[in-house]
Amino acid sequence: MPCQRVVATPLIVGSVGPYGASLHDGSEYTGSYAKTTSVETMRQWHVPRIRALVEGGVDLLGLETIPCKAEAEMLVDLLKKEFPNTKAWLAFSVRQDGKSLAYGENFQETARHCYDMNPSQLVAVGVNCVAPRLVESLISGINKDRRNPVPLIIYPNSGESYKVELGWIDRDKCEPVDTYVQRWLDLGVTWVGGCCRTYATDVTRIRQEVEKWKRNKLDKSQRNGQCLS
Ligand SMILES: [Zn+2]
Repeated sequence: MPCQRVVATPLIVGSVGPYGASLHDGSEYTGSYAKTTSVETMRQWHVPRIRALVEGGVDLLGLETIPCKAEAEMLVDLLKKEFPNTKAWLAFSVRQDGKSLAYGENFQETARHCYDMNPSQLVAVGVNCVAPRLVESLISGINKDRRNPVPLIIYPNSGESYKVELGWIDRDKCEPVDTYVQRWLDLGVTWVGGCCRTYATDVTRIRQEVEKWKRNKLDKSQRNGQCLS
């Protein structure tokens, strides 16, 4: 019998970074512009960029490195009103405290709120460009007692610190991203990858950890006589 291979179809994702990324002052990591920029200004800035991606034929949008609640709410609303046939994930940029958005709002509350605004178009909500060591405290318990759990996406950076004046520093102090992956999957993460300073070798290792986790889960369920879809 010939060997059959399942050919995966890649999805093309259009990256939608925050308004602050256009200011070239690192404010996607602080959200400081939210103090002085109206939501309407952000909206007008985003619309033509998102339209170009959608008209270009992307499979979905990655709304990413979003540092503040106001911009996230606006984007989720914009998706519903202007791009009702487009799916997206929403990933926040966060502080070093393991619980707050870069601008200061509570991550878990904001993530649940944004997901509930538009669950049919959001394939996942989570964080990107975060140090891997902060992820567990950010997501632990986010879906406790929820009937409609938030699907989670995590794609951290390498764990290095970013300083506007110096660039990325402290690489030698970081554990590789793949060492955290099994734990995140246990916590319910469904999309996982890498952001700044992670490379093809990291993605390969992340993939290997995902496969290992799936095999373990399958073995366990077979031992327990369960059927796993
Ligand atoms: Zn990044």
